[in-house]
Amino acid sequence: MTKTELISEIKRLKKEKNAVLLAHYYEPAEIQAIADLLGDSLQLSREAGETDADIIVFCGVRFMAETASIISPEKKVLLPVPDAGCTLAEGITGADIRKWKSENPTGLVVSYINTTAEVKAETDYCVTSSNALDIVRQLPQDRPLLFGPDRNLGHYIQSVTGREMDIWDACCYVHDVITREMVDHTLRTYPDADLLIHPEATAAREADYLAHPRILFGSTSAILSHPAKSREPHTYCVGTEIGIMTELTRRYPQHTFIPMIADHPCEYMKLISLEDVHRALRDEQYEVRVPAEIRERAIVPIRRMLEMS
Ligand code: SF4
Repeated sequence: MTKTELISEIKRLKKEKNAVLLAHYYEPAEIQAIADLLGDSLQLSREAGETDADIIVFCGVRFMAETASIISPEKKVLLPVPDAGCTLAEGITGADIRKWKSENPTGLVVSYINTTAEVKAETDYCVTSSNALDIVRQLPQDRPLLFGPDRNLGHYIQSVTGREMDIWDACCYVHDVITREMVDHTLRTYPDADLLIHPEATAAREADYLAHPRILFGSTSAILSHPAKSREPHTYCVGTEIGIMTELTRRYPQHTFIPMIADHPCEYMKLISLEDVHRALRDEQYEVRVPAEIRERAIVPIRRMLEMS
C-alpha cells in the first residue's frame, strides 16, 4: 500500500470500529498527523477517560497505554508496537516501592505518571510534569514524601516547593543528557534565545537556574504554550525530546526553535509506523489490559491526581 492508501485505510478502519487514535507529542510526525488527539501524558490520560470510542489505539509507550486501560477498563486499548518501553518506567518496580514503604512506614508515595501499573498500585498520588508542583504543595506536611522514579524531576520539585522528599534514583535517558555544561554552552551560543527545558533534565537540579531570566523549566504542555507570549519573532532553544518540534513549528511559524538534543531521540517513541497503526486496527493487536486486582488499586492515585489538578 502507498502512504496515501495506508492513511485512508486507517481512517476507514477507525470509523468502522469506532476507534480513536491518541498520540504523544514525541511520536514521529506522520503519526502525529493522523492522530485524533495529540497530547502529553496528562491530556492523553484525561482523553482516555472521556472518549466514547470502543477502541483506543495508543501511539506512545507501554506505561501510557496501561494508564489508558486503568482509566477505561471497558475499552480495548491497543499498543501498535508491544515493546515500546521506557527507561524511566523500568527504573522502579512494585517490589522496590513495597521495600521503600516498609523502610518508611509513615511515608506517602508520590509517583510520576511514567511508571508501570504495578508501581501505580503501590502509589498514594500520581503526578505528571504539568501538575507535580501543584499536587506536592497540597500534600500533608506531617507525612514524609517518597518520590519516584525520576531523580531530576524530584530534585526540581523539592527546590521549587521547598518540600523535602526522599527521591528515587532513576532517570529518563533522553532528558538526563541535558546537563549544566550543555545549558551554559547553549546560553553562550545563542545570547538572544530563551531556553525551554523539561524538568526531567539533569540541569533542572541546578537551583541557580530556577531564577535565570532566560531559562524556563516546564512540562511538555508548558513548553508548547510559552512561545505564545511573544508576539515578535523570537528564538527558543528547546531542551526536550525532538518530537515536540513538529508541534512547536506548526503552532508558531513566526518563531525559530533550536533543539538542544536533536541527535538524542527517544528510541521507544519512534518505534510506531503507519504500517503498525494499520495492523493494530485491522487485527486489533496488541491489547494492553491491566489485571483487575492491580487496576483497582492503580486507579486510586490516578483519580486523586485528576481531582487535584
Ligand atoms: S522520553 Fe524518556 S520518559 Fe519519555 S518514553 Fe522515552 S525514555 Fe521514557
